[in-house]
Amino acid sequence: YAKKKQSSAIQIFNSDLFRAFKEDAQIEKDLHWAIRGRQFELYYQPLMDLKTHAYIGAEALIRWHHPKRGVLYPGVFIDIAEQSGLINTIGAWVLEAACRQLDQWQRHNVDMAMHVNVSARQFFSGNLYEQVWQLLNRYRLKPQSLILEITETELMEDIRYATNLCQELSELGVGLAIDDFGTGYSSMRYLKQFPISKLKIDRSFISDLSVSRESREIVSAIIAMAKALNISLTAEGVETLEQEKFLADNLCHHAQGFLYSPALREPEFAQFLFQSNSRLAATTH
Ligand code: C2E
Ligand code: MG
Ligand code: MG
Ligand code: MG
Repeated sequence: YAKKKQSSAIQIFNSDLFRAFKEDAQIEKDLHWAIRGRQFELYYQPLMDLKTHAYIGAEALIRWHHPKRGVLYPGVFIDIAEQSGLINTIGAWVLEAACRQLDQWQRHNVDMAMHVNVSARQFFSGNLYEQVWQLLNRYRLKPQSLILEITETELMEDIRYATNLCQELSELGVGLAIDDFGTGYSSMRYLKQFPISKLKIDRSFISDLSVSRESREIVSAIIAMAKALNISLTAEGVETLEQEKFLADNLCHHAQGFLYSPALREPEFAQFLFQSNSRLAATTH
């Protein structure tokens, strides 16, 4: 009986694994079409200045309008794109689309920073600098309004290469942000060594603020450190007024999260900005 039970457990395990494998293979296949079929779209999530309550930037977040499965989030396909190498094509598209949008904002005197996520493979591909340089020129962008988000773990994959590339990118004038800060293993020494302009505190610390004294200590320590190093700081995943108050009291610079808005498609994002700016103008005058 035990043997039978065990073998059926293995069978279930195998068929689950097989299904997952088949699903990944299907996603990879569909990804080829997605690029050619213009199925990707960037959504924009606003970043708010905690002192002025003005929106100072947006993070571009990719969404996939899958013809059969509806809207897919990056969690479902970015890893597969990364493993298959398709991320280079997708990442180049993301950068282009984000810069095109940033150009639109700058033409309309909307002074917003555009944050773009860069994956490890894209970062180490050897042509990120070239891509960024070309886009800054093609769209005549203010370089400081483009901010590339990279995770600590990515940077640590090849510290020498990463240091050089970060140096070159910062000489172009673009900003560099460390994404999901606190979840990786970068040391203070490297923080000093990389020309980083911004840290984004991972949302796991923010969601724990009300229940975990440790998270409160960690967040205020990160804030103090960022201040000492003269690095601007964004808290990710802010969902409650209580979290916002803690961050504002501790002088964290910027906040991003569902409390303000999820990522929106361009027309809704523009409307969101317009409405919140008028509200802000009404309360400050
Ligand atoms: P991330 O860069 O840390 O982006 C923030 C993620 O947190 C987004 O998920 C956003 O929708 C979500 N988020 C924002 N505010 C809140 C909140 O208050 N509560 C909660 N629970 N979540 C919140 P999303 O869009 O699903 O993206 C997931 C990850 O996929 C991103 O994490 C980023 O690492 C990656 N990603 C997204 N777009 C791109 C892209 O264009 N290129 C690359 N390489 N990666 C991307
Ligand atoms: Mg990010
Ligand atoms: Mg990221
Ligand atoms: Mg993040």
